[in-house]
Amino acid sequence: MKCVRVLLFVSLITVSIEAAEWNYHNVSEWGGICEDGTQQSPINLIADDTVVEKIFKAFQFTNYDIPYPAKVKNNGHTVTITLNSTAMPTISEGGLIGNYVLDHLHFHWQSEHTVDGKRYPLEMHLVHYSSQYNSTTQAAAYPNGLAVLGVLFEVCMIISIIQSFLKIGQRHQ
Ligand SMILES: [Zn+2]
Repeated sequence: MKCVRVLLFVSLITVSIEAAEWNYHNVSEWGGICEDGTQQSPINLIADDTVVEKIFKAFQFTNYDIPYPAKVKNNGHTVTITLNSTAMPTISEGGLIGNYVLDHLHFHWQSEHTVDGKRYPLEMHLVHYSSQYNSTTQAAAYPNGLAVLGVLFEVCMIISIIQSFLKIGQRHQ
């Protein structure tokens, strides 16, 4: 049986980055704003330097439990899923001011962010824009206009407790 462990984090993005040819194998060659910027991602999260912000309420997910028709696109770097609805899912709380509307979600099959230098096999980004604006493009021009929830996945093998009990039971028959 396989399990998936996830780590959820949020980043407020205020800088737009132009896409160019790049890959995860030569991160040292990214250069430009990736090399000397102060507000861009990806970042390496240092667990010992992490502080739990106790005044933040838990994230509120609205309409995340509703099935939506969606468009899926693979551009070679990521798979993007865009929902088709007039009532998109939203998030609030968790330190966010106001509501943020889901624009799309996409995956990176090798995480962009790392934790204590560890790169995870999969990272999902849920890209939201502030409901004060009409779109991600418009919101990106403003501080706190975008909120991206990042989910890191770790695939692991576990031994089913039920299987263990069955094996024990077979030995005693
Ligand atoms: Zn991303």
